[in-house]
Amino acid sequence: MPLIDPFARPIDYLRVSVTDRCDFRCVYCMAENMSFLPKAELLTLEELDRMCSTFIGMGVKKLRITGGEPLVRKGIMTFFEGMTRHLHSGALNELTLTTNGSQLRKFAEDLVACGVKRVNVSLDTLDADKFAQITRWGRLAQVLDGIEAAKQAGLHIKINVVALKGFNEDELFSITDWCAAQGHDLTFIEVMPMGDLGNEDRIDQYWPLSDLRARLRERFTVTELDERSGGPARYVRLEETGQKLGFITPLTHNFCESCNRVRLTCTGELYMCLGQEDMADLRAPLRASPDNTALETAIRAAIARKPKGHDFDYSRQKVDGQMTRHMSHTGG
Ligand code: SAM
Ligand code: SF4
Repeated sequence: MPLIDPFARPIDYLRVSVTDRCDFRCVYCMAENMSFLPKAELLTLEELDRMCSTFIGMGVKKLRITGGEPLVRKGIMTFFEGMTRHLHSGALNELTLTTNGSQLRKFAEDLVACGVKRVNVSLDTLDADKFAQITRWGRLAQVLDGIEAAKQAGLHIKINVVALKGFNEDELFSITDWCAAQGHDLTFIEVMPMGDLGNEDRIDQYWPLSDLRARLRERFTVTELDERSGGPARYVRLEETGQKLGFITPLTHNFCESCNRVRLTCTGELYMCLGQEDMADLRAPLRASPDNTALETAIRAAIARKPKGHDFDYSRQKVDGQMTRHMSHTGG
């Protein structure tokens, strides 16, 4: 029986964080001196395979691998190779990942060989100095080279840009033009009140996408598209270039009713909603027995607790429902 939550939403999309580690330290995501989890806490590659395979057996059709930076997890290609069998059997429709792009030169061809067709690459600026500032440890040239390698390998690329007031406002058109020229899809994301530090900075950095969209309309004819992904993205087409642009406004509630996804952390915690603290530990039932019965029962019990919606609210310069965990933990 497929996974259906209490609000009759079929849950067929699993996002899996395979590591909390990263080779960058983006200011809105991590502290510079992050402490990472001890290895024993992490699901092994074999456990990740078993966990994902169980979800796929229960009706999950789309798997997105994220982190932390998924491509810095040692041996991660073994995991991707393992998931290929579910693509071949037809049980899984899509295997994809979200990456900062730093390791794409190394892995793009292997990913294609594993059946990956599309990647989301996070890139907030095309200016090398600003890139170094926002990622603290990243180098723009390496990421652009990774994106080029991915394109050459035949991967379809979507660029994810976190909209940051006073940081990349002035790059709205240059990033849009660059994506059009390169043939990349483009999605803008509103910054979310995640993590435990710099929260006030984040309110200062909050650049509402409504403003960004108004600015786009000054230069382009913008047509709203009906397309829905089950997630928080809304799409428009720029008539002059034919480009499709996405907007992710996680702080508005307009997508919860069609939410089809759950998130698994690298320690085996299942979060039923990005904006709620409630989670289910799936590592214990997984490790308790080589048989999957207890795990399946725990998954069904968790889905039965999936909430209707989340509680973020930026109104009146105060953050209600702020999450104390980092995106790198829940896996953006
Ligand atoms: N390391 C990979 C990457 O950067 O694409 C995957 C993990 S990262 C946590 C996933 C996405 O979350 C990235 O697009 C990143 O920009 C976004 N993200 C992280 N912290 C965020 C925040 N506070 N608000 C909005 N998006 C955030
Ligand atoms: Fe790393 Fe991605 Fe977080 Fe940046 S957003 S620190 S690349 S996990």
